[in-house]
Amino acid sequence: MPMRAVDFVPPRCPNRRCRAHLDPEPGFFRRAGTYQPKCRDEPIPRFKCLICRRGFSRQTFRLDYRDKRPHENKPLFELLASGVGLRQSGRVLHLDAHAVQRKFRKIARHMRMLNRNLLPRLPAARTFLLDEIESFEQRSICPLTVPVLIEKASLFVVATDVAPIRRSARRGSRRQHWLVCHEARVGRRRDRSRDCVRRVFGRLQRLLGGGRAQLLTDEKELYAAQVRYRAGALSIEHRTVPSTQPRTTFNPLFPINLTDAMLRDNNGRLRRRSWLVSKCGRFLRLQLEVFAAYRNWHRRRTNFDPEYFTPGVALGLCPRRLELAELLAWRQDWWRRTIHPGSATGAETVEQWAA
Ligand SMILES: [Zn+2]
Repeated sequence: MPMRAVDFVPPRCPNRRCRAHLDPEPGFFRRAGTYQPKCRDEPIPRFKCLICRRGFSRQTFRLDYRDKRPHENKPLFELLASGVGLRQSGRVLHLDAHAVQRKFRKIARHMRMLNRNLLPRLPAARTFLLDEIESFEQRSICPLTVPVLIEKASLFVVATDVAPIRRSARRGSRRQHWLVCHEARVGRRRDRSRDCVRRVFGRLQRLLGGGRAQLLTDEKELYAAQVRYRAGALSIEHRTVPSTQPRTTFNPLFPINLTDAMLRDNNGRLRRRSWLVSKCGRFLRLQLEVFAAYRNWHRRRTNFDPEYFTPGVALGLCPRRLELAELLAWRQDWWRRTIHPGSATGAETVEQWAA
């Protein structure tokens, strides 16, 4: 039987400054009736905290708290994870451009927290693959690098990032002329690719927490330098694959090449020769969180796997596949104290599911 909203029991007080937020004792609240929102068919229970005396409701624990047209969140998330742009999504759902943008940012930030909450650490003795794909913001003379780190067997997307890079153009070419004019106007473009790759290595190091792992990359010197630099804290065996090797299924880098192709397919902003580019690299970073949530927790690993076998299940981070409605259900901004997306009653936290 599906869980009814009126049966909801608040796991803690949503007021972060209240004692019952960190350490809720049983009976810290009393029920205070229900209300009937226009956009839902069931009544929503209200509560009052007996410690801080504040009122709250089941909605306070939900992602769509204070949302206008909350029923559009799921179709919008589906469109955004399928390579449809913001404007086209707006046309399909009859939402104006600003509303789509607001919803996109809210959902994407939520997915970023969800992705972090469900990935507290990585299992040891696994093989990871790292690659960078190139995209651009605004126009093709503002290129971006997008490093992507995955786990080999599960195809789990561990980390993505975005940073501006500077490409010099051939001298005397039209492109170089553009670049000179552009940089005269807005200043020289900074190359942040090193910082960005360092951040990805930092994240891998934190998630491994001293566990051993293997890393497979192309022959870019920066990767080898990062492995050497972190040799004390990160026990990684680094192997490289020459870029001259044909990009077939036999190539050891095939899993990351496949993920790159999927990224380009599922994120309109990364497609080559597309109109649909990010106005700003920052929003591409958010879009990648939407992709990672969809990829890791909902979509099955490959088309040959059973439906439930998502990368998250394969890597042992989530006991089952999460439905889209679940990914969009409980707010995720209380770190390990948040309600696990898969908890129907709202009673289990991320921490308790992991235990
Ligand atoms: Zn309270």
